[in-house]
Amino acid sequence: MYLKFIGSGSALNTSLGNNSAFIRQGNSILLIDCGSTTFSRIQKLNLLDGVKNLHVLITHRHPDHISSLGDLIFYAKYITNIDISVLTPDDTNVSKLLRYMGVDGSLYNLIKLPQHYLLKSDDLEIEISYVPVKHVEDLPSYGYILDYNKIKVFYSGDSKALPETVLKGFYDKEIGYIYHDVCSYNYDGNPHMFIEQLCTIIGKEERDRVFCMHYDEGFDKLKAIQLGFNLVNNMEE
Ligand SMILES: [Zn+2]
Repeated sequence: MYLKFIGSGSALNTSLGNNSAFIRQGNSILLIDCGSTTFSRIQKLNLLDGVKNLHVLITHRHPDHISSLGDLIFYAKYITNIDISVLTPDDTNVSKLLRYMGVDGSLYNLIKLPQHYLLKSDDLEIEISYVPVKHVEDLPSYGYILDYNKIKVFYSGDSKALPETVLKGFYDKEIGYIYHDVCSYNYDGNPHMFIEQLCTIIGKEERDRVFCMHYDEGFDKLKAIQLGFNLVNNMEE
């Protein structure tokens, strides 16, 4: 699998851990999100062993996506001496949030993501392009197209829709895989994507290129597989 998952649960499904994934190459890691449960899972998995450069890509500011980022920064800075960067198009708010938690800007590198950003870190090279996604009204939320090892994937973050540009790229086979936020429930104003709705967007023959993630407690994984989708699995502790 292209991405490895630290957690694959929704905000309140803590048994699966908050949704968070990473790519590691050599001494460098690109981590996507750092929610409430993520830092403790990173420690249990010893994920930072041998890491020199840690790049944290933030999708949005909900607690299950950013709450333990401050802990991770303190740990990187004071315990392990890892160089840590935070990458986001929402740089002003993210740095303000960290400052309110007592995490000074001098402890990490803040990178305001332009539309396309080439991350080069030792052996790790990834082009990151952000795509604004629909999630909730009061927070900007971003999905990312990651171009790594000549394969492009779209990672939705939390999103109730798939952006048109991403769908076009997916059907043109320019985007190889989609990792998408799904849920088992459906109501007006739902900030996540109901699995049945994903079926209306992605044709059956293309569903094996779509990985469901961000599982709530009622999510039926077997049904998702029967519908033709792929699943993500947490790394084993
Ligand atoms: Zn969210």
